Amino acid sequence: MDPFDSNSAERANLPRNMIENSMFEEEPDVVDLAKDSAAFPAFPALDPDDVTYEPRSSRLLVRGLGENDMDDDEEDCESSARLLGMSFMNRSSALRSASAYTRQAPPRQCSKPSARTMVVCVLFLVVVASMTMVLYFLPGCTFTRMGCRKPNKTAPIEPVFPHSTTGELFPWAQFRLPRSIRPLSYDLTLKPDLDSMTFTGSVVISMSVLHNTKRIVLHSANLNITKAVFKLGDGQASDVTVLEYKPNQQIAVQFTEELKAGHYCVLTLDYSANLSHTYDGFYNSSYIDKDGNKRVLAATQFEPLSARKAFPCFDEPSFKATFLIKISRKPDHMTLSNMPKAKTTPLPNGLQQDEFEKTSVNMSTYLVAFIVANFAPISKNVSETLVSVYSVPEKKDHTDYALDTASKLLEFYNNFFEINYPLKKLDLVAIPDFLAGAMENWGLITFRETSLLVSNQSSPLDKQVVSSVVAHELAHQWFGNLVTMRWWNDLWLNEGFATYMQYTSLQTVLPQLEIGNLFLAVRFRAMDKDALNSTHAVSTEVNTPEQVEEMFDSVSYEKGASILLMLSASLPGEQFKKGIIQYLNEFRGFNTDTDDLWNCLTEVDISTQHQNVSEMMSSWTSQKGFPLVTVNRTGDEVTLTQEHFLLTSDNATHTSSLWNIPVTYINDSCSLAAECRQVFTLKTKSGTLKLPESVKWVKLNFKNTGFYIVHYGDEGWAALIQALSKNLTVFTQEDRASLIHNIFALSRLGRVSFRQVLNLLNYLSNETETAPVTEGLLQLNDIHRLLDKRPEHLLLARMEHFILTLFGSLMDKQTWEEEETVSKQELRSALLGTACSLNQEKCINQSKAMFKQYDESNGTFRIPGDLQQVVYTVAAQTPEDWLTLLNMYQHVTYDAEKRKMLRGLASTQDARRIVWLLKAGLKGDIIQTQELPLVISTVCNGFAGYLFAWDFIQENWDRLIEKFPVGSYAIQSIIKSATSHFSTQAHLDQVQGFFSNLKERGSQMRSVQEALETIRLNQRWMENNLPSLQKWL
Ligand SMILES: [Zn+2]
Repeated sequence: MDPFDSNSAERANLPRNMIENSMFEEEPDVVDLAKDSAAFPAFPALDPDDVTYEPRSSRLLVRGLGENDMDDDEEDCESSARLLGMSFMNRSSALRSASAYTRQAPPRQCSKPSARTMVVCVLFLVVVASMTMVLYFLPGCTFTRMGCRKPNKTAPIEPVFPHSTTGELFPWAQFRLPRSIRPLSYDLTLKPDLDSMTFTGSVVISMSVLHNTKRIVLHSANLNITKAVFKLGDGQASDVTVLEYKPNQQIAVQFTEELKAGHYCVLTLDYSANLSHTYDGFYNSSYIDKDGNKRVLAATQFEPLSARKAFPCFDEPSFKATFLIKISRKPDHMTLSNMPKAKTTPLPNGLQQDEFEKTSVNMSTYLVAFIVANFAPISKNVSETLVSVYSVPEKKDHTDYALDTASKLLEFYNNFFEINYPLKKLDLVAIPDFLAGAMENWGLITFRETSLLVSNQSSPLDKQVVSSVVAHELAHQWFGNLVTMRWWNDLWLNEGFATYMQYTSLQTVLPQLEIGNLFLAVRFRAMDKDALNSTHAVSTEVNTPEQVEEMFDSVSYEKGASILLMLSASLPGEQFKKGIIQYLNEFRGFNTDTDDLWNCLTEVDISTQHQNVSEMMSSWTSQKGFPLVTVNRTGDEVTLTQEHFLLTSDNATHTSSLWNIPVTYINDSCSLAAECRQVFTLKTKSGTLKLPESVKWVKLNFKNTGFYIVHYGDEGWAALIQALSKNLTVFTQEDRASLIHNIFALSRLGRVSFRQVLNLLNYLSNETETAPVTEGLLQLNDIHRLLDKRPEHLLLARMEHFILTLFGSLMDKQTWEEEETVSKQELRSALLGTACSLNQEKCINQSKAMFKQYDESNGTFRIPGDLQQVVYTVAAQTPEDWLTLLNMYQHVTYDAEKRKMLRGLASTQDARRIVWLLKAGLKGDIIQTQELPLVISTVCNGFAGYLFAWDFIQENWDRLIEKFPVGSYAIQSIIKSATSHFSTQAHLDQVQGFFSNLKERGSQMRSVQEALETIRLNQRWMENNLPSLQKWL
């Protein structure tokens, strides 16, 4: 889901076009504000054509007076400004670009006037002076109760229109489309030419008129429209002129007479275009087959905003319609689309035309898909559905596992949701060139090869990856496809749900994959990100293409899934399941927002103590971040207090956010079984519960199913640490991992000393379970990586010694044979990965021996799947073996293994090789460009390469955003990898300097703000903790 956006630069210029017509000469802030107008209610009651054309001055005024969605401290800060009548001036830059480097100070910046504020104030004074003069000259009646006799209010307001490509005014100025026309069906004919990498198309769009209007506005990007014909009702068809406004990727047809509400009309557009050379739209791809021949193919990736690059359409999720698709091809190719093929017709030029059945369901445009390739399938019938897995022919024997898994999961979901998958076929296709992990197109799910193909060499861990992705995409066929979010602000309704279902379905369908540890780790990482000030509410306003892209992040996916888990764990019996079934039934075929879901879950309440789900959950979806719950015991009273867990580098930012928290707790009398769990709802700032004084310790957030962190105070932590060191099995392994995660988080927040962290960690020398060991290793490795990049070599050595003291004996116990269970594999690969990276002799020798054996065995010896990463990483550290590995990389067919080899190659500490790898990844021949984010993140982990990687990103930024759109997950990941290990002022200045110069080429991204925050936090953590590390390690 990484659309490439070739027009981002142009689009960011939108306000400049608008300003030409404006009566104001404005500063960019105000200009952005106009672009950012909040006037995008989904399907407002009024004809939105009227609503959105307020004059700019009134829009500014409305924003200034009507905002209520900001944080309290921002509100504090703004209210004083608002009193002065100037809130509109900063609102946009302060909130929308809260992510940008430009906002260095925290929200309380109003107390410390910056140069910019001073400029604003001066401007404000000028405005006040001008207004005073205006008021002076206003007629006296202006402020009387009756007003002046002829107020200007009834005069028609002149809308501000931008210019289309031909110079004429384009009749629409908004990012969102008008709501007066609704598409009903698309009849799409495509003629791709894979030799010239071009295609022509013709689309017949039938529409109904919802409100009287003189225009039809829809999306189109990079398409050359050659002919347009319009027909109203049963009338004559006639040629019409199509206007285009590129910055918004929109086209429009304007009429002299109004189209009346209730009428039907048809617009036919013929067009031509190039197949895209990026990873979105209708894009071309190629691969080398086993005989060394280059094979070309074309595939689609439309989510979120790229259907418009393949055909003109109303490209917003709420414009659902039916689709009838025809594609022509050479006889040696095949085609696939959402629906089964209806017929094939020979064309005069030797080509064939495949026609697919018309979609039996109404569908959002981003779910349309088609492929022209020569793939080979395997198939199986499941209930009423033909399930098939497609791959390039030579990988056909890697598809069995996916077919089997998809079949089991389809059956599971059919039963679980009590609604059968509605299409007659379901294809899962492995595409050789694919950026996202997978895409849930209805009936035609597309995957990266690593997310779908499993060889007989694969380890259960590889299978876990494939099963997770398949489970996620299949869940989307209900959550997302059948019921779709109304707008991208609620993307979490798709992604949070699919992520939640992926873990819960696998726990039932394939329990041997032990997916629980992964879900737990995912929740920890989601909290780490959500603790930053740059995070956003789960459901948040989205008004630009870049903001749409940025919604594809861990808040929508992982936090979304985490709060659903918290909810399902706190509702009685089957209420959660019943609620989502009701939601799916009530809204099937339609669009929803977050409230619709909460209402359904509230309505099915079957318990005696009525729980208002809407009230509880809106505190989790409408405000950013999550709570810290502090426990205070006096006598038999336990007081719980909540506050926003917010990591800030200056301790100055506070919010008064409150959450409705279903706090769970256990104590030393009963702590392992589900029945031990007690619940206390904390809705207010603090609350009290009773616990006998004899209770030695209390642990909150049983199995970490809640999305909050707990601080137990000095005594509380001491009691828990004592219990752990005495007998660690009094806690579940999830609770032990949760204690480790929480204490590190609290140390980062400055609430506990690092000494306390170490006190807790001491118990780890007795730990053998996967979840706590991997969490402990991850946290310590993070600190190790920070130290590695500072001149702290002595401390680094002591840290290494500490890690080996805690985990050394467990590392030694690991075998190098095949290991069957997933959790043991996870444990082993984490432990040996660390051991070898710390140059532990035994680990290095074993790895080297295994690599040699593998190299010399001519394919007869295999390295256990979970050990491959360790072995390849060690091999890459010597020049000869690095070359051997590169050779293997170029010839291995199985992609999961290929990726592990690539990570091995990129872990080299040889600077010349690092530079070569980065360049090769960008070029895309030996290393596919889709793997560049992986190369960068691996390089950045090591000492030798992290500065090269940072230079590389700066030098090649424009080429990077050509491949990966601004805001996309790939770019988010690149920025994070390159900057998250920095902890000095010099690096902070560099990062800030670079991104601030990017302007519309990425400076506004939330991930930039996140990067700057992270560096500041690292810097502060180092300042505060280096002395204690020196003392205690
Ligand atoms: Zn998804």
